[in-house]
Amino acid sequence: MKRTDSLEYLKKMVSKFRDERGWKIYHNPKDLAISIIIEAAELLELFQWRTVDEIKTLLNNNEFKSKIIDEIADVMIYILSLADILAIDLGKAVEIKIRKNEKKYPADLVYGGKFRDLINKRTLT
Ligand SMILES: [Mg+2]
Repeated sequence: MKRTDSLEYLKKMVSKFRDERGWKIYHNPKDLAISIIIEAAELLELFQWRTVDEIKTLLNNNEFKSKIIDEIADVMIYILSLADILAIDLGKAVEIKIRKNEKKYPADLVYGGKFRDLINKRTLT
């Protein structure tokens, strides 16, 4: 495992960058949540008005792929920043949420096309 695979390592790196610039005073839950969405919108903008086939072709273009990587990183940086000021253990949070999702969407019930059946069943009951 590379050190950049560690959420704690990344969170510390992002916090260090923020603190070296004196930006912590601007980091509050509301503005960080807004920033996550703004960066996610920048990611979406790269796909806007393009067909699935056009995007497939563009993904072979290094400049386009680099823009996607940058925007995904921006989203992640703000997620890490929000987790930092709220003292959230992101790894634990994801693990707990996946466990909840496993119960909500049992693989044997939702695998492939069965997902639609489950949604229809829940809608009807
Ligand atoms: Mg951006």
